[in-house]
Amino acid sequence: MSRDVKETSSICPECLKKGKIRKLKAERRQEKDGIYMVKECPEHGKFRSIISDEPEQYKKFQNYWETGSNKNVETFNLYDEHKSQTVLTNLFVTNRCELRCAYCFANSGAEGFIYEPSLKEIERMMKKARNVKPVPSKAIQLTGGEPSVREDLVDIIKMAKRLGFTHVQVNTNSIKASEDPKVAKEWRKAGCNTIYMSFDGTNKKANPWLDQNKKAIENFRKAGLGVVLVPTVINGINDNQLGDIINFAAENVDVVRGVNFQPVAFVGRIENLEDKEIKEKRISFSEVHRKVEKQTNGQIKVRDWYPPTFVNPISDLIESLKNEPQVRFGCSPNCGSATYLIVEDDGLLPITEFVDVERMMNFLKEKSKSKNILRKTRLAASLLRNINKFVDSKKAPKDLSLKRLLVDAIVSGSYEKIGKVQKKTLYIGGMWFQDAWNIDLQRLERCVIHYATEDGIIPFCAYNGLGYGAKIRKKYGIPIKEWEKQTGKKMKDDLWKGGPLT
Ligand code: SF4
Ligand SMILES: [Zn+2]
Repeated sequence: MSRDVKETSSICPECLKKGKIRKLKAERRQEKDGIYMVKECPEHGKFRSIISDEPEQYKKFQNYWETGSNKNVETFNLYDEHKSQTVLTNLFVTNRCELRCAYCFANSGAEGFIYEPSLKEIERMMKKARNVKPVPSKAIQLTGGEPSVREDLVDIIKMAKRLGFTHVQVNTNSIKASEDPKVAKEWRKAGCNTIYMSFDGTNKKANPWLDQNKKAIENFRKAGLGVVLVPTVINGINDNQLGDIINFAAENVDVVRGVNFQPVAFVGRIENLEDKEIKEKRISFSEVHRKVEKQTNGQIKVRDWYPPTFVNPISDLIESLKNEPQVRFGCSPNCGSATYLIVEDDGLLPITEFVDVERMMNFLKEKSKSKNILRKTRLAASLLRNINKFVDSKKAPKDLSLKRLLVDAIVSGSYEKIGKVQKKTLYIGGMWFQDAWNIDLQRLERCVIHYATEDGIIPFCAYNGLGYGAKIRKKYGIPIKEWEKQTGKKMKDDLWKGGPLT
């Protein structure tokens, strides 16, 4: 569905600073140097925030809007009904951390209280996500704060597995895993599938914890745990690191599965920055794409990126074959983007450079619509016959059997097999989380990354971008003194002694 709708809604960031959510009409407007969101508060005046400065790409992305229905997710009266399923459940397990990064969604260590749900509470929250109908959440991320400051993290991982999450990932700064190789092994043994590791650059100016990241990667490699590097991209701070980060990922492709770029959102520790500083530090996803092109010497081009909804025809086909609902990406095309790379001896090759992915997805869409349920063998034969039409064999890597890979994934209905075949592939993607300045309620109502909380299932960008998460943590948190009395610990003992905290 193409949807070049210009009207949307947002909120006033200044009203939010005073604790009030004021809904405003907003417009996505094409201006001379890009597409902007503009809105006006009767009290605080006009606001203007960049959406994209690549109009061609923006137009292409608008072909991938989707609208579903999901009554399980909180809407906070900002819109009528949530419109997409959960792709990833986040569970906030502590607001403690050993570091005090200048940029922190959760303002960890500085909220003035301790939020750390008990195992019983965590179980209740996990069950909420698992009980969602018709598609229960299958993937969970344990996050915070720093989850590994909890001594019972292994029990939490095991619990997630026991409750039926097939994919469990830990979001970590990597300090604990760098200090002791046993840590990674224990997480792996407990059932952790992937590590989401903060990684803001390949030099110490951009990333003071580079040595710890490297040591941790070594330990994850030994433990057989795949890692996704997660850089928060801030203009003027590490926007010159994008190519180096991708190259670092490629050098470690045996253990690094991908890079998930997150253009900075002004929430948590930095939500009260002045307008001027926000403008200086803001970077749009289209700028990230352009910088990636430049910093990889044109190996990954702006045109190689697609929005997450783009791959839904694969899920639809699996759904029609297996006759059971599959997880679909229902988020707005303006929320994120991704591409896949093959790491070759002499460089990086995006899959879009040798596969006509748009035609291929249309072909899969047609197949999944077919009422005549094709038997698996017939479908496999039909895919094999047709797949060559979409592949430029002159440009394709010799040792990669795309046919095998697709047929395995689609016919077996399992993405895991892709992981095994694709030893040398890297996922490069990211999500542009929203803040009070640029929040677009048409994006929020399609959010696919959710928090399971005591007070319900909450979209990520409402939890972090509109302050609902901080309120929940405060409601269920306890004063630091009380926590120290209960546990016999001191909060300051959390702090890392091996190097800089920020
Ligand atoms: S977390 Fe934010 S950016 Fe990501 S899908 Fe949800 S609304 Fe979009
Ligand atoms: Zn206002």
